[in-house]
Amino acid sequence: MSNSITVVLRFRPQNKREIAEGGVPIIDVDSNGETVHIDGKEFKGSFSFDRVFGSNTPQKVLFDHSVKGIVNEVLKGYNGTVFAYGQTGSGKTYTMMGSNIDDEANKGVIPRISEQIFDSIVEAPSNLEFTVKVSYIEIYMEKIRDLLNPTNDNLPVHEDKQRGVYVKGLLEVYVASVGEVFEVMRRGQSARIVAYTAMNAESSRSHSIFVITINQKDLTNGSNRSGRLYLVDLAGSEKVGKTGASGQTLEEAKMINKSLTALGMVINALTDGKSKHVPYRDSKLTRILQESLGGNSRTTLIINSSPSSFNEAETLSTLRFGMRAKSIKNKAKINAELSANELKALLKKSELQIVSFKDYIVALEGEVSLWRAGSAVPPERFVTFDKFSKGELQPLPAPNGAEAAAMSAATEIVRPGSTVSLASAATNGSSASVKVDLRTSSPPLDNDEKEEFLKRENELMDDLTKKESELEKERSFTKTLTDELELLKKREGEIFDENKELTATLHDLKMQLEKITFASAETEINMEALKEKNLELSAEIDALRAQLDEMEKSKKYSDEEDKEKRRAEKMAQMMAELDPTSAISEKEKAVRQSLQNLLQELPTAQLDAALESQDLDVVTRELANAKKQLEALTAQLKNMTLDNEMLTKKRAELESRLTTLELEYEDLLGKFIHESASAASRPAASATAANGAAATSPENKTIQEEEQRLHGDGAEHLVDLKERLEQQYSSKRDAYVAEIEQLKTGLLKKNEELAELAASKEALEAANEALTSSLNAAKREASAALGKLAALDKPESEKDKDLERIKKTMSAQLQEFDAMKKALMKDLQNRCEKVVELELSLGEIPHVGAKAAR
Ligand code: ADP
Repeated sequence: MSNSITVVLRFRPQNKREIAEGGVPIIDVDSNGETVHIDGKEFKGSFSFDRVFGSNTPQKVLFDHSVKGIVNEVLKGYNGTVFAYGQTGSGKTYTMMGSNIDDEANKGVIPRISEQIFDSIVEAPSNLEFTVKVSYIEIYMEKIRDLLNPTNDNLPVHEDKQRGVYVKGLLEVYVASVGEVFEVMRRGQSARIVAYTAMNAESSRSHSIFVITINQKDLTNGSNRSGRLYLVDLAGSEKVGKTGASGQTLEEAKMINKSLTALGMVINALTDGKSKHVPYRDSKLTRILQESLGGNSRTTLIINSSPSSFNEAETLSTLRFGMRAKSIKNKAKINAELSANELKALLKKSELQIVSFKDYIVALEGEVSLWRAGSAVPPERFVTFDKFSKGELQPLPAPNGAEAAAMSAATEIVRPGSTVSLASAATNGSSASVKVDLRTSSPPLDNDEKEEFLKRENELMDDLTKKESELEKERSFTKTLTDELELLKKREGEIFDENKELTATLHDLKMQLEKITFASAETEINMEALKEKNLELSAEIDALRAQLDEMEKSKKYSDEEDKEKRRAEKMAQMMAELDPTSAISEKEKAVRQSLQNLLQELPTAQLDAALESQDLDVVTRELANAKKQLEALTAQLKNMTLDNEMLTKKRAELESRLTTLELEYEDLLGKFIHESASAASRPAASATAANGAAATSPENKTIQEEEQRLHGDGAEHLVDLKERLEQQYSSKRDAYVAEIEQLKTGLLKKNEELAELAASKEALEAANEALTSSLNAAKREASAALGKLAALDKPESEKDKDLERIKKTMSAQLQEFDAMKKALMKDLQNRCEKVVELELSLGEIPHVGAKAAR
């Protein structure tokens, strides 16, 4: 098998997007399967590779023709590498892993390799014992993550003599079957998805490497062979600018591409034929794959490409990369651990070689010392390895002492990374110094030095990854802090805005508060004023009440006085008008006169005649008159009583109306006081709330309106309202009082008339009685006088005695009459008093109404 890297090209079919964008296939694979003709806009020409697969090449065909051979080499003990290179979406993963590892047709290179390894193991001779272990890593942002142990996300790359280049701390899982290999693949895939979801990153920006290490031990001689197979799915080769590398900073994009760029550089260095230094150490990828590129490995590079005109530029870039890679020459060798005999033979061979080399060195040193000593050595006597190995060399003349010193000074230790002059500073300086760069893979280091160098490098790598991890932690911490800071800044901004808003609101509120305070102070003042007014009004009302009481009292007193007076007047009038005594007195006088006449001047016959003719007639007439008068008065009294009853009824009605009005007024006044009090305790701002209440009655409406006006206009409305209420009340009261007064006056008049009539009736009755009795008495006296006249013929002394007796009788009768008259008068007076009392009590009724009205 050739030591060159095998490069195969695989086209995928055009995808939907390319078709939609109007892309057309621009490739034509030659029938030899090694050349592709490109008929693009930018380029028209051909590329040849070890193999070219067209768009519809099945997975199995690709595997059989380009990868299968490597597995056999690895089983022999070579290292092997399969790379998939190409732009994102060109089919790298499809090629390496397949669209489904369990699908026979679609599974990719890695599942097929795994199957082939185990098939080969099964078919291998029984003296060979195999162990297979796998590991799965990815490189993202120049950090190696162990996909089988994802907590290890930054592993260092080490190198030592036995293992070569390896990832330190990587979990290697021993597998005994294809199924187990698939299981590990799935495990690694899911870890990859989780990691990318968490990082919000794109898997196409990382390189994944599936490593299969096969150890085979020959049980017959104990020899060991190990082959390591790297199956690499590279990150998308497109330029960052084209995909936009969304969300990534330029620095991150550079980091992502670092390994890919380094891969290109390594390939350049390996293929340009000039570079002495190959920059494997410039990236983790090239460092891990150091042996696969220009080193100890059978390497196949599968370049994946789109056939579409839509991706022409990327396709050309991919093909050119493949072309360069094709010229890399590897130096593959079997990684074998020799058995003891093999080693002994090898040692013997080496010892012989060393002896001959030593002789050769001595010959060379001899020549050199001659040159240094200034002697010339003819060309035919130049020491060459060819002549030396053939034994054609003649011994050279021995050098002098100075030449020997120069020879020893020329021997210096060559250190890694340093440039050493092989010419001594002590020499005359005429010789040109030779500089050797030890960074390349072929420095003249001896084994110890190389080991020491690698040891140191490994230590440094450990330190580096440690520092990187720390740096990453610091970075993530810084990021957390930055995010937090951003959040805080944002929050601060929001708080600032909120603060601004709040300040504005506060300002508004303050203004409102001030307004309210001012309004409240004003209201307080108004309330104070109202309170004062209220107090004043209350005082005024109290004063008015007191005045009214006073007036009532005085009116009562004056009424009482008036009553007394009226009583006296009435009594006097009644006594004057209706006093029957005056008539009686007249009659009495007449009787007395006639009696006197009778006693002193007139003869008995004349007396009797006088009595018969004058007094008796008069008295009888008077009596008849009195009787008539009495009857008329009785009828009038009856009418008057009826009138009186009606008036009493009317009065009762009026009183009840008055009481109702009184209650209404008190209610009104109570409401008003209550509303005034609540208005005093309520903030002015709430006044509008009352506006919503619907008025149900006119009175309520008026009060509410007045209340609104009160809240709106303040104390003057209160005073207004009060005044209006007072006016309303007083006008009503006045109207009622006037009405009552009228009724009272009417009642009084009627009462007076009634009383007068009653009194005159009684007086007349009494007078009638008195007249009747006095008439009877006069009649009796007259008959007695007639009897006495008959006895006039009695002697003078007897006459005198009789006269005396008559006189005595008459005076006794007169005294009786006086007493009777007095009793009659007394009785009449009592009756009159009663009538007056009744009148007065009737007259007091309107005062009760007035009191209630107050
Ligand atoms: P990459 O790994 O290079 O980003 P993928 O392997 O994911 O690209 O391929 C992108 C899409 O194209 C996938 O859906 C894949 O199945 C499809 N695809 C790639 N190569 C082929 C092919 N040779 N035949 C059929 N489909 C393919």
